Amino acid sequence: MASDDHFEGLKGIPFWWEAAAPENIPFSNPGTRYDVAVIGGGYTGLSAALTLAKAGHSVVILESEKPGFGASSRNGGMIGNLLKPGLNGLIGMYGQEKGIAVYKEALASVAFIKQRISEEDIECDLTMNGRFYPAVQRSHLASMTQDFEARQKHLNVPEEMVGPADYAEDVDSAIYKGGLRQHHTGGLHPAKYASGLANAAIRAGATLMVPVRAEKISRTSDGFTLKTSGPEIKSRQLLIATNGYSGALFPFVQRRVIAIGSTMIATEELSENLVTSLFPTKRMITDTRKMLSYYRPSPDGKRILLGGRPTVFQASPLQQAKALKRRLTSIFPQLKTSAVSHVWSGKVAYGFNALPTIGQHDGIYFAMGYCGSGVAMSGYLGHKAALQILDHPDGETAFDDLPFEDRIYYNGTPWFLPPAMIGYKIRDYFGY
Ligand SMILES: Cc1cc2nc3c(=O)[nH]c(=O)nc-3n(C[C@H](O)[C@H](O)[C@H](O)COP(=O)(O)OP(=O)(O)OC[C@H]3O[C@@H](n4cnc5c(N)ncnc54)[C@H](O)[C@@H]3O)c2cc1C
Repeated sequence: MASDDHFEGLKGIPFWWEAAAPENIPFSNPGTRYDVAVIGGGYTGLSAALTLAKAGHSVVILESEKPGFGASSRNGGMIGNLLKPGLNGLIGMYGQEKGIAVYKEALASVAFIKQRISEEDIECDLTMNGRFYPAVQRSHLASMTQDFEARQKHLNVPEEMVGPADYAEDVDSAIYKGGLRQHHTGGLHPAKYASGLANAAIRAGATLMVPVRAEKISRTSDGFTLKTSGPEIKSRQLLIATNGYSGALFPFVQRRVIAIGSTMIATEELSENLVTSLFPTKRMITDTRKMLSYYRPSPDGKRILLGGRPTVFQASPLQQAKALKRRLTSIFPQLKTSAVSHVWSGKVAYGFNALPTIGQHDGIYFAMGYCGSGVAMSGYLGHKAALQILDHPDGETAFDDLPFEDRIYYNGTPWFLPPAMIGYKIRDYFGY
């Protein structure tokens, strides 16, 4: 058990907010009529608004809290391109041509985020040192290898499989059976990225209304009227970018997206030598458990941040911090006596096919469901949604015609999560 003195002074806010807390940006003289209203001020909504404003559209972003307040300033900042079903899974689900096309977009999202950060000059500690996916079980290594071989055959991905004796450059932990090393991905400071995107959208001419909650959508002859916690807004077009924070505003989405909590901890400042010895190449790490752990060094190389779903049922931040600290120590026994300084949670969103989704229903556009891997994909699909609104041919994506499924037993309350997670824990325990 972690001792209580490792949690003294524990802060219940994201570590990232120490350097870039989401800010209330005061808006003055807002209009009431826009070409496009975007609901949700995370990476998806901000990226869409940036693209729309640059194309000369008048656009308003309604954010019920502060820009980036949702998952976008709370995540691990790990840029990745692995889709949950894997390439073999996608080919099995949708056929070879479509499966490959979808996967190519995941790769494109990594190129896109790099380009956008560079074009908009966003200072967000971006480093492309790669990512390592360590296999917790030999069976995981075998299935990873199969998907790796499929990607090598069909896509030109700069990655390699490494065996149990060959991952010392990625992470100094003895518990893994090898893993997948990627060279073209990396990490950033998520809250700085969110703030940079918000400023870029405003610079381009978008209006950011915070804190303004969209409460009701009504259709009019020429678009939509939004009842909000602030002014009433009229727009010709509408994009929903609320992901894991969607609620009941748009029932079509509510019945198709499952919000799941994810929690992170940050350690106290450690010696830089210790952090460098644990992460020699500063790669981002995500393991292969069903209840997976993801972890990384902080951008300044002084702390370690680790995330996952620590408990099946609701628990206090302290209990969650203790559970995640136990995970951290199981990976790095060297950190047994290190204190935890921050614990925080946020919500991710899953669709039933475990893939991101973009589309429109009844003339309302949406992009969401990144399954906990949205740092690159959310900005990319936000941009694509904006291009679709603009009726630009580049708005087309392989995700367009994938089914956005509902279930007869689901109306927005994920009652099935606790039993599913207990099942996952059992599988993790027995290693299958
Ligand atoms: C703890 C954690 C760790 C993660 N780690 C990673 C990672 O390392 N790598 C990775 O790729 N992905 C990660 N993710 C996922 C990633 O953060 C998300 O996929 C991404 O941020 C989604 O962006 P978004 O803009 O779609 O949603 P969000 O950033 O969640 O934004 C949605 C916004 O909508 C607003 N909103 C909701 N309803 C309304 C309304 N009615 N009116 C106005 N505003 C509303 C909310 O306030 C919120 O700010 C993580 C997520 C979490 C929570």
